[in-house]
Amino acid sequence: MLKSTVLKGLALVSLVGVLSGCSTSSATNKSSASSSQSTTKTQTKRQKLISELPKGVKSTDSDLIVVNKWHKHDELTFSKSTVDGITVRSSVVKPLTAFLNGAKKAGYPATLVSGYRSVAYQKEVWSQSITTYEQQGKTAAQALKLTKEYVAVPRGSEHQTGLAADIMNTKWFDSHDSQLLSSSDKAKGQQWLIKHAPDYGFVLRFTKSGTKSTGIDYESWHFRYVGKASAEFMTKHNLTLEQYVSLLKSRESAKK
Ligand SMILES: [Zn+2]
Repeated sequence: MLKSTVLKGLALVSLVGVLSGCSTSSATNKSSASSSQSTTKTQTKRQKLISELPKGVKSTDSDLIVVNKWHKHDELTFSKSTVDGITVRSSVVKPLTAFLNGAKKAGYPATLVSGYRSVAYQKEVWSQSITTYEQQGKTAAQALKLTKEYVAVPRGSEHQTGLAADIMNTKWFDSHDSQLLSSSDKAKGQQWLIKHAPDYGFVLRFTKSGTKSTGIDYESWHFRYVGKASAEFMTKHNLTLEQYVSLLKSRESAKK
């Protein structure tokens, strides 16, 4: 049942940013004073952010692993447990339970829809999607194209880290046919989750402003555990995990 809900969700929403393709901006070769001035400004801002990064956090911390379509991973090894019947990495059971309890206490019970998904399962969803499109009369090329738009590429889904959790305000979820839709952020309960996630060490992973950096469209339900200090910093400065880890790497290489 959970599986069919997830599959339905996968079919209905874009889990992979469609054509966001390349993360590098199309840098033109302007050598005007204004452009070099703005480059300096950007660099100064970046230096300032680096100097303010939380102490003791490293880019190599297991909570900060980046998995996306540009950084694919084979199956990772870690201990697993369940929360509300959903499998997650054991290390997030405590913060995730606290997050869900916090929402309930605030008057906004939430449903944990999805947590850990194995690479094998991602492959299954992928090939099932291709088969479905082909059965609908699409050519192999069309089926692949459509699948790429709506299904995370195998080995490229953050759900394999066990640190990601799709969480929906229960009332909204139940009254919208158990769909994962970005418009759920209109519900007060979903807004509560987004606002308070950092208090429990989670961030809303795929923000509206971060689509270029993450390669994934806005998702108002996908939360990612990164630890409290990192979650607070990322939220305060509106950074994606990709951008945050890049800053951490810069700090580390400057120290060498
Ligand atoms: Zn998700």
